[in-house]
Amino acid sequence: MPIKLHDSLSRETRELRPSQPDGVFRFYNCGPTVYAPAHIGNFRTFVVNDVLRRLLELEFGQAKVRHVRNLTDVDDKTIRRAREEGRPLAEVTKQWTAKFHADCQALNCLAPHDEPTATGHIREQVDMIDVLMKKGNAYRAADGSVYFKVSSFPGYGHLSRVHERELQPGSALAGKVHAADADEKEDVSDFALWKAHKADDGNNAWDSPWGRGRPGWHIECSAMSKKLLGDTIDLHTGGVDLLFPHHENEIAQSECCNGVPFAKHWYHSEHLLVDGKKMSKSLGNLYTLDELVAKGFSPMAVRYTLLMGHPRKQLNFTLDSLHAAESALKSLRSFRNTLQTTAGSTTPGKGAKDFALVIPTLEDDLNTPGAFGALFRELNQIHSTGLFPAHAAELLIEFDKILFALGLDLAAPVPAAKSAPAEITTLAEKRWAAKQAKDFAAADALRKELAAAGWTMLDRKDGYSLEPLKK
Ligand code: AMP
Ligand code: ZN
Repeated sequence: MPIKLHDSLSRETRELRPSQPDGVFRFYNCGPTVYAPAHIGNFRTFVVNDVLRRLLELEFGQAKVRHVRNLTDVDDKTIRRAREEGRPLAEVTKQWTAKFHADCQALNCLAPHDEPTATGHIREQVDMIDVLMKKGNAYRAADGSVYFKVSSFPGYGHLSRVHERELQPGSALAGKVHAADADEKEDVSDFALWKAHKADDGNNAWDSPWGRGRPGWHIECSAMSKKLLGDTIDLHTGGVDLLFPHHENEIAQSECCNGVPFAKHWYHSEHLLVDGKKMSKSLGNLYTLDELVAKGFSPMAVRYTLLMGHPRKQLNFTLDSLHAAESALKSLRSFRNTLQTTAGSTTPGKGAKDFALVIPTLEDDLNTPGAFGALFRELNQIHSTGLFPAHAAELLIEFDKILFALGLDLAAPVPAAKSAPAEITTLAEKRWAAKQAKDFAAADALRKELAAAGWTMLDRKDGYSLEPLKK
């Protein structure tokens, strides 16, 4: 089945197809700003994009997908962090890039084919600004900064549906468009392509035809996607907060410079919330992967949780959902073990259908909760009817394809159950034995003892697991 995805520009759900004759699907995903650990809100976006990448590979073949994700390693935030810590910018961004990579790996995200940095592409950005200056789409202000002239591009606002009046001084949107630079600009909606050097920037400045300075944020994605993927790409994605002004500005820069449509398809995933508010560094309501691992959760459960909600709907994050994810993973693990053993045996079993609905559900606008629903409906069905051993071998192949698409690595470490101290596992063993002997009074008393020590037992037919109690 073809992959269908909501397109933020046309507001329609459309099929994804490579547009170039070489059949390569060109995919650009705006990456992180590397000045602190990414939080799991950021990772919601990256995990959703990872599922997309995996589906593209299943659809077009591994060799026919080109995935680029940038690293923003120079901007106000990165420079401020380096200044506050009295360290060179490159040292700070290198540290946080390494952490980002480690977290991506723990969350089983495939590495992009290219991961360009803004500081590694100054020349490409200057070249693009130069073209925009020559074509009359940009102007140099008195201080040496260069701005994009929004009125020179009639298509401005098509993606975000912003209208002129919404960009008037004082409006909320105008505030989002670099209010700090307002004095230098000819018009409030114009945005910086090149920022003239200021004392606060330290030595983070480069030469340009307009004087020393640094690129504005938006130009890096236009310049790097042009260099690595060409003038027209097939899919451009990011979190919904990037839709305006970042992506609107990317379209303006790229289309004015290149004279052809920039992206065939735009996809924006929604935010992860905590208590109804966007998880963000500025609100300080964030969780990092390390914090959740320290609480005993596995990175795979974090990945699972981030996929529990429809990517185009906001998702409220709770620790309870992580507990649910851990137990869902446990069921998947035990099912896969059963499949493996059954596949080799000759004992006849009863009927089982297959997982035919799971991947098509994912391919239908990345409906991850729908795919989990289809998967578990099938699993329950199999549990109640049994397996054909001959069928189990086929099911295993199908099941592994689903795990690949969702990026669920069932062999990844599971910290919680293993980290129970010896006295807790002894109590658990006693309780399990009491339960098997149908001594329910003793089993209940032992459950209370475990709870008092901060542990709970999850019972299944064939055994149990230990979980730390929710705090
Ligand atoms: P940043 O590092 O701030 O540039 O953000 C990296 C990516 O994370 C962008 O695509 C953002 O849209 C996305 N993002 C930021 N906060 C959240 C959130 N709470 N939920 C989902 N995605 C987010
Ligand atoms: Zn970008």
